[in-house]
Amino acid sequence: MVPSSSDLKEGNKLCPESTVIILGGGPAGLSAAHECLHYKVRPIVFEMGSMVGGISRTEAYKEYLFDIGGHRFFTQMANIDHLWREMMGDDFLTVSRQSRIYYRGKFYDYPLKMTNAFLNLGPIESVRILLSYIQAQISPQFPEDNFEQWVANRFGWRLYQTFFKTYTEKVWGMPCQQIQADWAAQRIKGLSLKSAVINAMFGSSKVKSLIDSFNYPTRGPGMMWDRFKDHIEKNGGEVNLNCRATGISHENGRITSVTYDRGEAGLETLPVAQIISSIPISRLVKILDPPPPKPVSDAADDLSYRSFLIVVLIINKKGLFSDQWIYIHSPHVQVGRIQNFENWSKAMVPEGPTSSIGMEYFCTIGDSTWQMTDDTLIERAAAELAELGLAQMTDIIDGTVIRQPLAYPVYDQNYSDNLAVIRTFLETFSNLQTVGRNGMHRYNNMDHSMQTGILAAKNVCGDQYNLWQINEDESYLEEEQTPLVNSTLVEKILRKSFARIDELAFATASGTLAGLIIFLATIWLIVKGGANVGQHLRLIGQYFIGYKVTVAGAFIAFAYAFFSAFLFGWAIAYLRNLFLVLYLYRIKKKSEMRSLRDLMDHL
Ligand SMILES: Cc1cc2nc3c(=O)[nH]c(=O)nc-3n(C[C@H](O)[C@H](O)[C@H](O)COP(=O)(O)OP(=O)(O)OC[C@H]3O[C@@H](n4cnc5c(N)ncnc54)[C@H](O)[C@@H]3O)c2cc1C
Repeated sequence: MVPSSSDLKEGNKLCPESTVIILGGGPAGLSAAHECLHYKVRPIVFEMGSMVGGISRTEAYKEYLFDIGGHRFFTQMANIDHLWREMMGDDFLTVSRQSRIYYRGKFYDYPLKMTNAFLNLGPIESVRILLSYIQAQISPQFPEDNFEQWVANRFGWRLYQTFFKTYTEKVWGMPCQQIQADWAAQRIKGLSLKSAVINAMFGSSKVKSLIDSFNYPTRGPGMMWDRFKDHIEKNGGEVNLNCRATGISHENGRITSVTYDRGEAGLETLPVAQIISSIPISRLVKILDPPPPKPVSDAADDLSYRSFLIVVLIINKKGLFSDQWIYIHSPHVQVGRIQNFENWSKAMVPEGPTSSIGMEYFCTIGDSTWQMTDDTLIERAAAELAELGLAQMTDIIDGTVIRQPLAYPVYDQNYSDNLAVIRTFLETFSNLQTVGRNGMHRYNNMDHSMQTGILAAKNVCGDQYNLWQINEDESYLEEEQTPLVNSTLVEKILRKSFARIDELAFATASGTLAGLIIFLATIWLIVKGGANVGQHLRLIGQYFIGYKVTVAGAFIAFAYAFFSAFLFGWAIAYLRNLFLVLYLYRIKKKSEMRSLRDLMDHL
């Protein structure tokens, strides 16, 4: 029986009988294992690769270190940020981001800067882009169900075509119309209206800091995961490399054992009390024993992935360009992004006059790029680098290729239904949780992948987090990281300040008040009496035809005043509401545009 989290947290009881099997030694699996240690539960990790880190590992070729695509460390989750810093100490660099887009022979600063874009595009194209942006704001296209419409509605068609279409299609290998809009919405979640208003009123530097700088371990992301591994092993856990899970047996709604392949050492089987899996969910389904019902298996077959390969070119020079990476939009070359690893951290390249450049190609297992020999890939990458004018052919002295299958879970038209079928089936197992990027078929970054692992470990120890809400439910993201102001108090103030005024009620109140004032003033003057009753008030008769300072006149005045003030009050309330809606719309748009400034980074 699994002890409750409070039992475990409070005492120092080691629970050797409570062991959690964790499949996959990437960020999600290692974070789950790390969290288990807090609860004195023993994690046993099985990783099929020869190193930890998964897609976030650091590879080495000779003395050159490189990532599988540059991995920036940034997060809005305080617990993850804390964990990263705790693990890395002084080895966590803060890197000032520099990146550009290469398009039609020109380099554009990215995130886009107005003057730079204007100078590169020229006045005519800039005006066209502006007009198309205005058009999109006035008449956005609905339904907004694919990526193309999603971006065009926010940036306008021309900007979309110039800066987003080609690169996105290189990454995904399919037309933007076939990419689901919810992919963009999940990846590029804007702030909620509440947060946008809070930011507008109290200010926030978060969006800026995400774009301008990031953290990076001195020797690449793999350094982080090596430290996790060391920590887990030092504290009684196990991280078994070169162990591929090949079978998962189950009975009566529980996973009972896992079989793994130790290579030359053969197959081994271990009983399971609790299991957390970060391996691709479609692969997990396929190694279940007995196999799942056909619809589940079919749904798994239908989930698709985009793969990735990096050609690392060794250059006989340092300082080729100052960016960490450049997005390549030009359709005439296949490369999608180019990394300059020395600009991530000097320790990624050896001392001396050489450097390394990562040419990133997005592909699909079995396609022509994936199947090319390493030599051909290196030749092609070298030719493309030279064609882009970033290096001379003669400076390229060596190269290597790393292939990363299943790098991107694809959000195609069927993915959501397929995932629902698989999820519903897997939820019937009481001791299985799936976490991480491919483990949940979610386009998660390291931080979200880690968070799912951490919460799964907490669940093993008695908590009840819904892992599927991470990144969907903003509270997992935002509330932890905005200690700006007391959130409930702010909400109360906002609710009062931004409440809609009921036009009819406001108009009736204004009319009644104005009517009563003039009615009572008239009556009071009559009661007061005197030689010349109400000589001043009588002048109102010039506007309120028929009005006299008499009892009947008091009623006439009431009716006139009520009617005029009613109209005036209604107009005031209407305009105030209109202004409020426009104001909130502007805040929301502004915050959305700010959060979209680094859209390319999320593709
Ligand atoms: C090109 C690229 C750039 C990226 N850049 C960033 C970035 O800048 N910042 C950021 O935060 N995130 C970035 N990411 C995302 C980041 O890489 C992932 O979020 C993260 O690696 C996911 O961690 P994970 O543990 O869920 O999965 P993975 O990293 O995929 O780890 C899963 C592990 O399971 C293992 N495994 C699979 N099958 C089995 C099996 N049968 N048995 C045993 N083990 C198995 C795999 O070998 C792997 O080690 C990037 C991703 C890509 C592709």
